[in-house]
Parts: sequence; structure tokens; C-alpha cells
Amino acid sequence: MRKKKFKSESKRLLDLMINSIYTNKDIFLRELISNASDALDKLYYRSLTDKKIKVDKDKLEINISFNKKTRIITISDTGIGMTKEELETNLGTIATSGSLAFKEEMTEKEKVDIIGQFGVGFYSAFMVSDGIEVISKSVDDDKAYRWFSEGVEGYTIEEVDKKDVGTTISIHIKPDTDEDNYSLYLDEYKLTSLIKKYSDYISYPIKMEVTKHELIDEKENKYEDKLVVETINGMVPLWKKNKKDVSDEEYDNFYMDKFNDFDKPLKVIQTSVEGMTTYKALLFIPSHAPHDYYQKDYEKGLSLYTSGVLIMDKCSELLPDYFSFVKGVVDTEDLSLNISREILQKSNSLNLIAKNVESKIRKELENMLKEDRDKYIEFFKTFGVGLKYGVYNNYGADKDKLKDLIMFYSANKKKLITLKEYVEKMKKDQDKIYYASGSSISKIDMLPQVERVKDKGYDILYLTDYVDEFTITAISEYNEKKFSNVESDDTDFETEEEKNKTKKLNEDNSKLLETMKDEIKEVSEVKFTNKLKSHPVCLTSKGDVSIEMQKVFDAMPDEMGIKAEMILEINENHPITKKLQELYKSDKDEFINYTKILYSEAKIIAGLPLDNPTEISNLICDVISKK
Ligand code: ADP
Repeated sequence: MRKKKFKSESKRLLDLMINSIYTNKDIFLRELISNASDALDKLYYRSLTDKKIKVDKDKLEINISFNKKTRIITISDTGIGMTKEELETNLGTIATSGSLAFKEEMTEKEKVDIIGQFGVGFYSAFMVSDGIEVISKSVDDDKAYRWFSEGVEGYTIEEVDKKDVGTTISIHIKPDTDEDNYSLYLDEYKLTSLIKKYSDYISYPIKMEVTKHELIDEKENKYEDKLVVETINGMVPLWKKNKKDVSDEEYDNFYMDKFNDFDKPLKVIQTSVEGMTTYKALLFIPSHAPHDYYQKDYEKGLSLYTSGVLIMDKCSELLPDYFSFVKGVVDTEDLSLNISREILQKSNSLNLIAKNVESKIRKELENMLKEDRDKYIEFFKTFGVGLKYGVYNNYGADKDKLKDLIMFYSANKKKLITLKEYVEKMKKDQDKIYYASGSSISKIDMLPQVERVKDKGYDILYLTDYVDEFTITAISEYNEKKFSNVESDDTDFETEEEKNKTKKLNEDNSKLLETMKDEIKEVSEVKFTNKLKSHPVCLTSKGDVSIEMQKVFDAMPDEMGIKAEMILEINENHPITKKLQELYKSDKDEFINYTKILYSEAKIIAGLPLDNPTEISNLICDVISKK
């Protein structure tokens, strides 16, 4: 039989798995059981809509056995099974989504992260096994197939006989080595404890033959070992259990298993509601973004169960976009089992649950911010952009729900603060919330306009995410305090006297300024200013679109041609002002050169690209060579 090769990336991943860089080998069993349980779910779900498929609910089960001599553990299910094609695609390729960034040299942590990205799944069995056989018969096929692989070299597929629909996976346990004792898995006690530890909540019976030490003669006090088949798991879904009866570890294991994450969740939220609507929910906030979170095809949603039966894997209606990172399950008795998707989407019960779930998550986050700030900041650094996006999305419809959950970097505090905290610490004479935006904290810190506001003792919020300014614009004011961009035109701290002085300077030099503006064209105005302390020039903007927002628009795939209305401001107290006045009178050509250089400087500071870097570089050289 011809051996088929794994796709090359799969091969690398498999290699990592086989050489078991992940220390917790125990999890292979929960992965296989979880797949079996999914297969049972799928079969049952199909039978609800497909009349041709008859399912006896009592026969939906998982059987586990082991043999010390042959070193084989078998996990068998009566689930939906796999066709030949499904065996190929599901087990022949590991990385079905995303791109795998393999490096030649990887640290152990990077390796674990890579595996974590894809969920360990079926392949985790290779951590303990040197040969895996999958015999499966799909509900959609009369034929059964055997898939077999000994590891990276590839796999074979052939037709075999199998009476019932379902899948049987047999794994051959590796021989022991100096470091690893694989034989420990060929043990009744070990296997039953693993099932109880990781798979107790699985809603189908997991059966295994176990030894019972039974008293057969009371008088003689005689015992005998008997083999009996028992259901090992408790079968009560975790979300139906009382909070106090579930350990943190159980919640964590459930999350990691169900949502394919290598890390524990940052927060577990369990809730049970009775009244207008009745449901139980078990929600998780992941500790890092799901690996496909930033991809277009990322699907948000919660698993929806009705009376313990899964009716939808990812019900997106249950989560608003700004909480799309939340994972979890909702179980309600208010919906019927055979409800169609279309009806479900319009169902009042579902809307009511969604509203409840949204406010529950929000309250939990507000509490976390109040009571465990470090944890909240960890959360916010990972998912804050989504919340900020939520503020301006939908024309700001949700801004009031979210405005107290967002944070920005404070120039004074040098850490993230909320808008509430900013306003509480505002100075008596301050009536605006100041902000400045740029690509990094250090770049904003060096903006000429920032210096002056800081000198007044006012705090400034530094906006470094591309969404930030849109968010601020959508909020528009907080506690009746308006936002003010220090880079825009509207920060005026001058005394009347100072203002008049600047006004006069601008009037007296109107021709000079006009000439500069005519030369630059991209700006709508050139003027002298009193607001730059030590820097010679800066670019500011007028109107709704700031320079930072223009950068976001420029970066969009279809150029919308939205531009900021820019003003070039020149520091009236800087020697360059005198120099310009002199040149304007004595040497027009040099005056134009200076104009070009100053504008380029301002663009560089604002983080805008130069259209003519060579020309500017030559000009600068010309000017400095003259000295
Ligand atoms: P995941 O479960 O995260 O999708 P796995 O690598 O564990 O990834 O499994 C890949 C796919 O193989 C599953 O999505 C499922 O379609 C299929 N599969 C695995 N085990 C079984 C099984 N026991 N019965 C039916 N299908 C299975």
C-alpha cells in the first residue's frame, strides 16, 4: 500500500508533538474523548433533522479498554464517523488554518506556543504513541476505512470491514525510556483517574472494564476480583453543577479542552438566571487572543444547549462584537430542540438571554477593574482594542456601556488610566481632557505641542492605537468635559497680551506667510505661533479629521481621499522666525528652500512620509554647506 505524506507543515508540527516538548502528556486521553463526544453530538444533532438517521440515545457512548501485553489503548465511539475523504482531510493535515511560523531554532516556549495555536487535538496521541490506527465508518457511507500512521513518515488508508457507524482509535503505547515511563498509561487506575480528572462532565457515558474487589463470603471474609463494565464519568455538565462543587482546576480543564487552548482562562464567569428567561451560562475570558482572533473568518459565539443537548456550536447572536473574545456555553430550557436557525435568530428568548449575557460580562469586567486592576490591565492589553472599537461602532450606540471600561496611557501617571480617573484628577482651571496621538508613547512624548500642555501641569492621554481617536471622537465628552487634541488648533493657553502679539506678527507678515503657503500647497495655512516652547515647527490640524486619523484612512485598501486640513506653525520665539523675515527680503530662492525644509521637518515630526526625500536631503546639504 502506498504511504501518503503529511503536508510539510503538519510534519514539522507532528515532529514537535512526537518529541513531546509539551510536558503534560496526560492530555492525550481527554483530546480523544473530547473528539468522540463531539462525534456523538454531531450524530445526535443530525438525527434531529434527518429522518433517515435513526439513533438510539442509549447507544451513544464511548468505550475505553487497554491491553498491557499488546500495549494498546482503544477509544471507541458510536458517533458520526468519518468517510475516507474526512479521514484524509481531518487527520492528514494538522494546520488547517492560519500560517505556521516555523523557525530553525525555536525555544521550548515557542514550540509550545505553536502547538497551542492549533489545539493539540488528535495528534497529541503521538506524544505517547508510536502507532495509531483509526477505523471509522461514517453515517454517510456504507464502507469503513482504516487509517494508520506511525508518525512523521506519513499514513495509509485502506478499506476494512466494520459493522456499526462510529470510530475506533487504537494507540500503541511507546516503549519506556530512561526519562519517560509510558507504561503508566496501561493501568486501570491511571486511566480512570484521567477520565475523572479531565472528562467527568462529558455528557455521554465513558465506559471501561474495571476490577471490583468483591466480598463473596462474609463468614470467611473472602474477597474476589471481578471485572465489570462501569461508567467512569459523572456526566453532569459543568455548568449545571453548583459553583461550590466545582474546583478551579475543573473549570480550567473544561475550558482548555472545549476551546482548544493551552492556557488557563483569565476569568471564569458562571451564572444561573431564572425569571423572564431561564438559563445557565458558563463563560470564559481567555488569557490571550485566540490564534485566529484577528483573522477575517474568526467566528464569535457561544455554544448553545437546550436541556443539555447542543443545538448550535457558535451562536453569534449571544455575543455583541465587542465581546467577541468571550468563549463559553449557554444552556436554556426556553428553546425547542428542533428550532431552525432562522427562527432562532428572531426568537425573543434568545434576545433576552443575549442582553443578560452582555450585561453580566460587562459587570464582571467592571468588578475586575475595581478589585483586581492588574488583571484587568492584562485583559485590556489583550482585548481593549475590541472595546474601543465597540465605542464607535454602530454610530456610538454602545458608547455609554463601554466608556468606563476603556483605558488610555496617562502622561502624568505613566500608566493606563480610565477617563473617570483622568477627570477626577483634572486641575481646577482645566476644562478639557487633553490627548495626543502617535505611533508610540515615546514619539508622542517628543511632540512639540505636548510640551506646552505638560508645562501647564495638565495630564495628557497618549493615544497609540489606530482606533483611539475614532473612539474619543465618538465619546465626544466625558462628564461634560470635552476632549481636546493638543495637536489641533484649539489649545490656547495664552494671555490676551500674548495673543495680540502673535496676531500682530501674523498680520505684519501676511505676505511672507502667503508665499510659504503657496509653495507648500498641502497645507491650508502657515502661521507663527506662541505655543511651541523650544521646537521650531509643527503641523496641526483643523476640523474633524486629525493627522493621525488621516494616516489610518491612508492605510486603508481603498483610498478614500479623506485628508486632514493641516496648518504649518512656526515658533515665533525661535531664531528661525527672524531668519525667515531676513531671507524674505534679501534672497527669495533661499527663502523657498527654507520653507521646504521646515515643512519637511514638521512632516517628519508628525510621522508623515516625505514625497521628495532626496530633494530635501540635498537642500539641507546646500544650506549647511554655505555656513
Ligand atoms: P479538533 O478536534 O480540534 O477539530 P482534532 O485534530 O482533534 O482537531 O480532530 C480533527 C478532526 O477529526 C475533528 O474536527 C473531527 O472532524 C475529526 N475527528 C477526530 N476524531 C473523531 C472521531 N472520534 N469521530 C469523528 N470524527 C473525528
